[in-house]
Amino acid sequence: MTPVFPVDGTLYVGGYGQVSEIPDEDGAIRRLFELLDGTRTVGQVHRELAADFPKVTEAEVVAAIEQFDEAGFLLDEGASAEGLLDDYELARWARNINFFGSYSRLSDNKYRYQRRLLDARVTLLGLGGLGCHLLLDLAAMGVGHVRVVEFDKVELSNLNRQILYRDADVGQPKIDLAVRRVKAFNPRIDIETIPRKLNSTQDVLEAVADADVVISVADRPKMEINHWVNEACVSAGVPLVTGGLDTQRLVYFTMIPGQTGCIECWRLGVFRTDQVSATLLSEKRERQIGGDNAAFVPLVTMTTGLLLGETVRLLTGVAPPIAGGRLMQVRFDDYQSTEHERWERLPDCPVCGDKAAPAAARPDRPAAVAAGQ
Ligand SMILES: [Zn+2]
Repeated sequence: MTPVFPVDGTLYVGGYGQVSEIPDEDGAIRRLFELLDGTRTVGQVHRELAADFPKVTEAEVVAAIEQFDEAGFLLDEGASAEGLLDDYELARWARNINFFGSYSRLSDNKYRYQRRLLDARVTLLGLGGLGCHLLLDLAAMGVGHVRVVEFDKVELSNLNRQILYRDADVGQPKIDLAVRRVKAFNPRIDIETIPRKLNSTQDVLEAVADADVVISVADRPKMEINHWVNEACVSAGVPLVTGGLDTQRLVYFTMIPGQTGCIECWRLGVFRTDQVSATLLSEKRERQIGGDNAAFVPLVTMTTGLLLGETVRLLTGVAPPIAGGRLMQVRFDDYQSTEHERWERLPDCPVCGDKAAPAAARPDRPAAVAAGQ
């Protein structure tokens, strides 16, 4: 039960950073809240309330409980973790579970959200600045299974943001170092590694097989990687969460196959409606997610927080994703979060449209979308 304060005929119901005001001249609502402590059936609540307020019907009590539940005022203290989480999981993710409880309705079980994370499979493409923070925080959240793809070695200039590596690691391959450090942080996480460069849609397809969500923060090869990842995720039917830094701003978006437009829908839409951008694109100065020149850790961690938020939304269903089919941006100037672009699924899109062949069926065309357009 959330805290309730009566003041001069108004009931103030608090919780989770918001206070709601409910008119309550006669005190009936306040009494109803007192009775909703989890020890009574609806019939008992009505009978006890009617003792003081005889006009109240049981139907009104039921409607009020539904409204309170919808508003998030009611907590199901009887939810059980039995069969969902063991003692270690209950203790390690206690604060997650309290967070999920804040979103739970009486018909939900807050422990189930954590179970979904523990059972989830995420493919993470890239273990650079964003990827380091993402992998560590996926482990912190309790995502159970992660497949990581990275071919690169540690450089000294990585260490302003790539927190899984040390000075002594310079020159060493990143992937094994990252896995060792994250496994030390959370020994229960299952991490599968693909220690090579992605060179085609087929390569990406292998990396995203069986994933529930793909997070792509790989930025090479610059021209092709987003197209390969897009084709593979559409073909495999796996939602994609991606984003990156653009010097003073961050951008991110979510692509859900069959629901939102894909990256090619976005690109085609720009070609058809925006002459300036179309010219830039045709000159191969393609829009880039992620840049090599500047990378500042406050923006890195803001980005990874937003990408993880989308990932949790998709994996657990606790709330809908924010950035489906729209490019969100946050500028370092003012931290304002705004929609920068929005696009719809195009029926004639060669990747996700009605007549598109699954990419899996055409491995001979690994860069089909990138090439020649
Ligand atoms: Zn498309």
